[in-house]
Amino acid sequence: MTAAFDCVVVGGGPSGATAATDLARAGHRVLLLDRAGRIKPCGGAIPPRAIQDFAITDHILVGKASMARMVAPSGKRVDMPVGDGFVGLVDRETFDEWLRARAALAGAERRTGTFERIERDAAGTAVVVYRADRNGPERRITARAVIGADGARSGVARGEIKGAARMPYVFAYHEIVAAPPDGGADYDRARCDVFYQGKHSPDFYAWVFPHGDTASIGVGSARKGLALRDSVAALRAQTGLEGCATLRCEGAPIPCKPLRRWDNGRDVVVAGDAAGVVAPASGEGIYYAMAGGRHAAEAVALFLATGKASALRIARRRFMRAHGRVFWILGIMQYFWYSSDARRERFVKICEDPDVQRLTWDAYMNKRLVRAKPIAHVRIFLKDLRHLFGLAPA
Ligand SMILES: Cc1cc2nc3c(=O)[nH]c(=O)nc-3n(C[C@H](O)[C@H](O)[C@H](O)COP(=O)(O)OP(=O)(O)OC[C@H]3O[C@@H](n4cnc5c(N)ncnc54)[C@H](O)[C@@H]3O)c2cc1C
Repeated sequence: MTAAFDCVVVGGGPSGATAATDLARAGHRVLLLDRAGRIKPCGGAIPPRAIQDFAITDHILVGKASMARMVAPSGKRVDMPVGDGFVGLVDRETFDEWLRARAALAGAERRTGTFERIERDAAGTAVVVYRADRNGPERRITARAVIGADGARSGVARGEIKGAARMPYVFAYHEIVAAPPDGGADYDRARCDVFYQGKHSPDFYAWVFPHGDTASIGVGSARKGLALRDSVAALRAQTGLEGCATLRCEGAPIPCKPLRRWDNGRDVVVAGDAAGVVAPASGEGIYYAMAGGRHAAEAVALFLATGKASALRIARRRFMRAHGRVFWILGIMQYFWYSSDARRERFVKICEDPDVQRLTWDAYMNKRLVRAKPIAHVRIFLKDLRHLFGLAPA
């Protein structure tokens, strides 16, 4: 089979850049196609596991948080110190570009262009159609395989994967502001604040995340028509951050359910937001996008070696084996705890428990569920039930 590239990766965010790096390092001819000009709206929080697994160097972190503060509808606050370690904060403008440059250093060719669709040539080989300029001519490039890592509302997924057009979303909006001076407002450069308050979001949460010299103030909700800008304005007033200079205002959908299939049974596999893999309840997607990109690269490498389209299925299988259980638990948590202010209040109260804090941080930081303390799990489960049925003191 003659094709210009072994693999065209569409999308140069965390997922696509990771897939392109891994495939290029393995010696494959890779094209990384990314449309330029938009900074991905994102809180930028990443766990140590991402830093470890994907060799993210310290210089690219713009902040390190050592504490999360959970705020209940009543205003009650529960501080959750991270303990050993920290939550890394990245600025997506520099982080994504660093990842793309790393892919190029590994040997991937970079092109700037907007993906349009996939066609087939007479031999059945995939032809990726894209435009280098919005009004310019269409360009065509052949590839033995295509990885669709073009984010939420992925054009690759919509064109190639059944059911992709029906993906459910949370809509998120945030404002990047100049961080207040130390000690200014109720703000701490080493703390991520999470607001579980129905007045800001009836079904998700709002946040203030530090980004070094800037901060991300945002909110998410799956409710169509919710005035997210008004929520952020109210949150800024509530936290004393209304006077900070606003640098950017931007929003984007966050997919909230992994697609049932990630490949087209022929030569295309999707990864990251394109595959719907953002963790429910937390909205965490960067680590999962990178992990998905890595599994997509493994699947494509096997496909290139064997010619068997069934190899592409390992991307989803491996991802779900590693993270499916956590997604399931977080999905139930979101459904239950985010459904009313009374439940949100109880949820924040539960977070006072040191065992809950330890298990939460361990699951977030290391991406594994610890079995080491079965008694703590039972205790938390019983406590959860008491809160669930309203039997615990408020
Ligand atoms: C407001 C907000 C806050 C968030 N906060 C966090 C957080 O704090 N921590 C966290 O872990 N996650 C967070 N997320 C989720 C996280 O941003 C995503 O899950 C993650 O970026 C997914 O990475 P990706 O590579 O799959 O997709 P993306 O990062 O969306 O990258 C897709 C890439 O594809 C390119 N592209 C798109 N269409 C085309 C096309 N037609 N042709 C060519 N290129 C194309 C884009 O330019 C982009 O570079 C947040 C999301 C939002 C919206």
